[in-house]
Amino acid sequence: MDYSLMIHGGAGAIRDPQRYAPSLRTIVESGARLLAAGSSALDVAVHCVALLEDDPLFNAARGSVLNAEGEVLCDASVMDGRTLKAGAVAAVCGVKNPARLAYEVMEESGHVLLVGEGAERFARARNVKFESEDYFKTQERVAELAKAKRARAIALDRSGAADGKLGTVGAVARDRNGNLAAATSTGGVVNQRSGRVGDSPIIGAGTFADNASCAVSCTGVGEDFIRTSLARTAAFFVEFRAMQAEEAAREAIRYLVAKVNGQGGLILVDRLGGCARAHSTPGMLTAAFVGGVARVDAT
Ligand code: ASP
Repeated sequence: MDYSLMIHGGAGAIRDPQRYAPSLRTIVESGARLLAAGSSALDVAVHCVALLEDDPLFNAARGSVLNAEGEVLCDASVMDGRTLKAGAVAAVCGVKNPARLAYEVMEESGHVLLVGEGAERFARARNVKFESEDYFKTQERVAELAKAKRARAIALDRSGAADGKLGTVGAVARDRNGNLAAATSTGGVVNQRSGRVGDSPIIGAGTFADNASCAVSCTGVGEDFIRTSLARTAAFFVEFRAMQAEEAAREAIRYLVAKVNGQGGLILVDRLGGCARAHSTPGMLTAAFVGGVARVDAT
């Protein structure tokens, strides 16, 4: 296959999944056009995640869930399968596109993960765009936090305190040169403790890419994915057990459930360009562009 792309907008018990379908289609088609024109998997993964971050429907950057103190603190990561270079940020406030900042961390900081104020200072030094608090906080998210507080709920899908969607976003791509990349971005989970960091900025847990195996982006209860190194586990299945995309995605989620009864899902593109998704939640929002055709799966 010449090039492949898959994106996700979270997993959970999703009320009205079709609401997300038009955005998913537009974004996957936009990324596919860039891949067709020869852009790298890395640039396209970051491009798609930045578009998902800009869309207030999804829980990443604009439209992020609020933590227990009513703050929007974002996490994101990127990984380049060609070089195994990676960059990530955690608990950053006010950065318009945390995925772009993660890319800057990878390329320019000499480190893999920057957090909090240090990451924000680095963002300013790199001229990364900031937005005001109002830009990030939607009315829907303010109401959702109030409801979660009344129910004393943290992980929204288990509580029924909100619409039940764990809405992290992500993208995995394989470009025309056969290079793989992955990117993930999130606002975390509703009503989480300030300072809590999930799997999304943790390389090997929420994000992983290696040309020798596959690119993976995860969504779900972050603690479950950290404890099982889930993105790396899926890649292990491809690299060392010779599984292709479908089987590796399915086996990784089977592993997540068997080990920690984990809740969530993942998307994966393998070294041959095969794309797959799997989830242990009732639904998941994904779109893929494979073999010249866009396909949206919103369940
Ligand atoms: N994985 C994210 C976290 O735990 C949440 C999500 O996927 O919605 O922070």
